[in-house]
Amino acid sequence: MNLFVATHNAGKMREYRDLLAPLGVPVLFPPDLGLQVEVVESGATYAENARLKALAHLHALRERGVEAVVLADDSGLEVDALDGAPGIRSARYTPGSDEDRIAALLRHLEGVPWERRTARFRCVLAVVPPDGALRFFEGICEGIIATEPAGEGGFGYDPVFYLPEQGCTMAQLPPGAKNRISHRARAVQAAMPVLRRLSLTR
Ligand code: IMP
Repeated sequence: MNLFVATHNAGKMREYRDLLAPLGVPVLFPPDLGLQVEVVESGATYAENARLKALAHLHALRERGVEAVVLADDSGLEVDALDGAPGIRSARYTPGSDEDRIAALLRHLEGVPWERRTARFRCVLAVVPPDGALRFFEGICEGIIATEPAGEGGFGYDPVFYLPEQGCTMAQLPPGAKNRISHRARAVQAAMPVLRRLSLTR
């Protein structure tokens, strides 16, 4: 059974390729099939948005006669001093690039002391086999919003997501380390027993 991950985000694609490699089955992404499914993320929760993405891609695959287990995540950064913002709006916090969004976040946190800059990344992963039986898995990673960006790895808000236990930002972690501790890694870990079983079916 193929796995299909419903994301065009290059950072997420890189991470999923490694996270799912232990399953030893082909992992496909929309560009591999020339698929461009427009999904309006109109849900009020991560789970609802993950569900919308997963089902839209499941239908698109069915139309093409492709059988696969579809994975779709919705994720975001929740900053306590901003009452949980940007949350499910993390990708759309401000128009422009990841750097623009980081700049906006740091502006909104100007003057907020270190001890009140607590935050977490949250990932809700929807898994749907060809029969349509949807399951959800969640992963969380706690950290602190740094006062300036540092590091080149990862994507999105990683350069300002400081990990106290590691003593560096998510973007400064050595290669491979993010996939051991991230919210996405934890969601995939929670899904592993189900993914293992589904990927063995024909
Ligand atoms: P979506 O799940 O595609 O709606 O977008 C999630 C957004 O949250 C991304 O565009 C990033 O801005 C942010 N995000 C999610 N996961 C990560 C991560 O692992 N590192 C940094 N930013 C992330």
